[in-house]
Amino acid sequence: MQGGLLKTLEQVKMYSIPTSDHRVSELITWYLGILQRAVDIIWENIEWRYRFPRIEGRGRKQVVIVPNKFKVPELPKDKSFKKKLRDELLLDCPYAKHWVDAVIRTAYSIMESWRKRYLKGRTGKAKLRVERRFARCKITLMKVNYEEKKIRITLKPGEYVEVSWSSRWFAKRVEGWRVGEVVLKDDRVLIPFKSTRVIEVRNIIAWDSNELSLDGFSPRAGFIRVDLKPLQSMKITYERKKRIAQSKGLKDIYEKYVARERNRERDFINKLTSGLTRLLPNTTHVFEDLEKEDLVCRKKTSSNRRKRNARTPWKLIHKKLSEKAVVVKVSPKNTSRTCPRCGCIVKTRVGRVFKCPSCGFELDRQKLASINIYLKHLRMRGFPHSDDPEKIMRGELWVGVTPSGRSPVTWIPVKRDPEGGEAKGGGLDIKQHQAR
Ligand SMILES: [Zn+2]
Repeated sequence: MQGGLLKTLEQVKMYSIPTSDHRVSELITWYLGILQRAVDIIWENIEWRYRFPRIEGRGRKQVVIVPNKFKVPELPKDKSFKKKLRDELLLDCPYAKHWVDAVIRTAYSIMESWRKRYLKGRTGKAKLRVERRFARCKITLMKVNYEEKKIRITLKPGEYVEVSWSSRWFAKRVEGWRVGEVVLKDDRVLIPFKSTRVIEVRNIIAWDSNELSLDGFSPRAGFIRVDLKPLQSMKITYERKKRIAQSKGLKDIYEKYVARERNRERDFINKLTSGLTRLLPNTTHVFEDLEKEDLVCRKKTSSNRRKRNARTPWKLIHKKLSEKAVVVKVSPKNTSRTCPRCGCIVKTRVGRVFKCPSCGFELDRQKLASINIYLKHLRMRGFPHSDDPEKIMRGELWVGVTPSGRSPVTWIPVKRDPEGGEAKGGGLDIKQHQAR
């Protein structure tokens, strides 16, 4: 394959610089007061609209879009309301006017996230109270000097606060990165550094996320199994240690274990994601949207699936990987019981081998989901269901990946298709193993 798609990867790293400036604390006090006022005013102007039950016919099926009649909050967003809000807040603004704009934007983002949670039934109608002491800046209030690694933040016209990261430990890590909008706290300034780079995508791998392994399928590399057992056993060990510390009331030791576990988890994930991007360069990684799984089919989620979410930090794995490669998500619906050849959904789950009652297709269950996730992704991108699974699975190869020890990735043969001729390495760094 030549010439892939170009994708932009954005990476953000947050660092903080300690400060002590009474002017910043004063600003935060004002900011919180005015933010609360903005939130209150937006709250009072919410329009509650009824949303009625709705059922739609899709093909032969009837699909419930809205199950019950309920009230939906709509935030006031018209220009005249926003102008009135701004004018009112400006009456009490001893700072640069852009601070009021920063407040309004923060107020809207607070209200939007409340609205989302409300619609999902995760929070009630109670009025919001702003309590955390912070002030989110706007880019228009900042002047960044990349040569001297300095940020000048405007408080009032002609009055500034300056912070520098030139002698900070992370200065090297963010060389050439852009500074985003800073957040002021009483004792520190949080600075988001951003980098963007363009990568060329030529391959696809689809991952089935399991508790003890990531099972991938890629038409070029075949099947790949990534062992997550080291992560699981590490977490189990710490769970036990934390439980013991807790039962003895040793809070300090408990906290120490929490921190250590987090460090080791991060370390594992860094090695894992670096290993994956090295093994599979220029690749789109397709995962199931596990958050959606929780949300949509909470009742239906089998205990097996819930288990895989419990201990493995999927969210962090996806986040870290998306800093190094392109990550896309597909719906997890029926991925472990759809026949990849004819699309038939098989209700029963017996035995190690998946057998389609409708077309007779057979496949090892461990491989089924990743194939289906791969096909889902193709369909999402507009490719018709034309890939014959038997055709794309030719030359399959099982490899094991264990991110552990000093060398981040070790390759262990798991299983090789006995009939498959030469496995298609496709330029990937996969060792060939003799079939047993
Ligand atoms: Zn079938």
